[in-house]
Amino acid sequence: LLMFCLAVLARADHLKYKDPKKPVSVRVKDLLARMTLAEKIGQMTQIERENATTGVLSKYFIGSVLSGGGSVPSPQASAEAWASMVNDMQKDALSTRLGIPMLYGIDAVHGHNNVYKATIFPHNVGLGATRDPALVKRIGEATALEVRATGIPYAFAPCIAVCRDPRWGRCYESYSEDPKVVQSMTTLISGLQGDVPASEAGRPYVGGSKKVAACAKHYVGDGGTFLGINENNTVIDVHGLMTIHMPAYYNSIIRGVSTVMVSYSSWNGKKMHANHFLITDFLKKKLKFRGFVISDWQGIDRITSPPGVNYSYSVEAGVGAGIDMIMVPFGYTEFIDDLTAQVKSGIIPMSRIDDAVYRILRVKFTMGLFESPYADPSLAGELGKQEHRELAREAVRKSLVLLKNGKSASAPLLPLPKKAGKILVAGSHADNLGNQCGGWTITWQGLDGNGNTAGTTILSAIKSTVDPSTQVVFSENPDSTTLSDKYDYAVVVVGEPPYAETFGDNLNLTIPGSGPSVIQSVCKSMKCVVVLISGRPLVMEPYIGAIDAFVAAWLPGSEGQGVADVLFGDYGFSGKLARTWFKSVDQLPMNVGDKHYDPLFPFGFGLTTEAKK
Ligand code: BGC
Repeated sequence: LLMFCLAVLARADHLKYKDPKKPVSVRVKDLLARMTLAEKIGQMTQIERENATTGVLSKYFIGSVLSGGGSVPSPQASAEAWASMVNDMQKDALSTRLGIPMLYGIDAVHGHNNVYKATIFPHNVGLGATRDPALVKRIGEATALEVRATGIPYAFAPCIAVCRDPRWGRCYESYSEDPKVVQSMTTLISGLQGDVPASEAGRPYVGGSKKVAACAKHYVGDGGTFLGINENNTVIDVHGLMTIHMPAYYNSIIRGVSTVMVSYSSWNGKKMHANHFLITDFLKKKLKFRGFVISDWQGIDRITSPPGVNYSYSVEAGVGAGIDMIMVPFGYTEFIDDLTAQVKSGIIPMSRIDDAVYRILRVKFTMGLFESPYADPSLAGELGKQEHRELAREAVRKSLVLLKNGKSASAPLLPLPKKAGKILVAGSHADNLGNQCGGWTITWQGLDGNGNTAGTTILSAIKSTVDPSTQVVFSENPDSTTLSDKYDYAVVVVGEPPYAETFGDNLNLTIPGSGPSVIQSVCKSMKCVVVLISGRPLVMEPYIGAIDAFVAAWLPGSEGQGVADVLFGDYGFSGKLARTWFKSVDQLPMNVGDKHYDPLFPFGFGLTTEAKK
């Protein structure tokens, strides 16, 4: 018996890293010391889920898998189907000699937006207008539960870009042009990960299996590129970088953010993915960020132009700059071979590899992934649950910004009467969930969001809010016969179609499609409120005079009922612009505090209404 006990003790000691009672640092060191170079480089490799077929994770010791924007979509897949897919991959990862769990990451950037039936929250541009960091934290909590319901423990959120030019296709992923507003919204991290206990201050932190690891992105200066061109060059001096684009990273680190994603953009001509000073010297050493740094999708390939033209150089520059995990959509074996060769020949020192793997393992241990690597089936009911939809609806209400109410202040149009003879609802965005949700919904570009997302359109919300005696006529594009009828008033819902990243870059920012003609024809014929669904301010000056009331609704997500709640006075308007509403694009970039500030509506503006009793 004694011999047996000794053997058990020896074995427990042997597997120190498997003992949850040991401090994380002890476990990380123990595990790291056991790892071969191949196992280490595998940890640094993140592959797309299409490539993670059976046997691949164990063969290459892959540390992480993602569903990126470019992933083949799986519209209508259930929470259970997602969880079983992730579990199968996890089984493969755990079958290796050391049994290190893989970390599955996904772009849950406004709720669990890749997944059918998830609650889709307003995009960040709308959340910025709420000025309500506590609300944003609750959104993080709900999102964590919905993401975990599908077996996924890692979200590539929040985007803490400070969008300085609305011509940028990612402006809606930014809370504000104002660094202070963006800083205040890092509460999302605390919602996703949990509050850092005092004992863990300064370290990455994820509070258990109902929370997910967060990712502050894109480090740094992504929102400051020339003309708002995606992935372009941000020309700004050190002071500007540190006071505009950097501050939200300080808050993120204090909130224990687990990971930071590097930006595709350049700073003063140097690619961020190759910026040793900002990644290693500043973020890791000066700011003492202890989580791991992840590249963007194909981010190191894009260090060169054209991308991947000198891949060895990209690997050396990216890993050498301090990137710990490489998001490799294609050619992951090439990456592994290349990095292995560069370590063996001494180009990349072993200490760099150990730093990377140490950080990745620290996050995995801290979040309890070794103890709970699989999906928790008891969470399946969290996806799209009513409580989360109510929260999203509240967020929609608070995000709406009322910019005009009545042709004169003494004759406000809003709130609208619920009891009316007949009302007209018009426009391409009144009855379309995909348009309401925008990009990053079901698919990257959001074009599959309609029909593959569960929720309430603004039209159906209006119908269920008005008095049963009120007749609601809907016409997407009303012709003259429809318009010649008699209506008490019209609600015109127009805006931008969904888009993501570079596809959304736009130098003219006019209202697309039939939007302008619907506004003009309807508002000429009757009293109208225009509800604009867009990822940013659009050119409104030509129309604003003809409109009776104007509401910026941003990209509200799946709960269109929130719009009707406020239009009809069940709640008051309270949102404030978190962006400057320019008059014309030749004023851009124009941000609050600029010398020649001459907006249509200034930063911070927003009329209020009282809720009807
Ligand atoms: C985006 C990131 C995103 C990643 C993974 C990239 O194209 O820039 O924000 O997290 O794809 O989908």
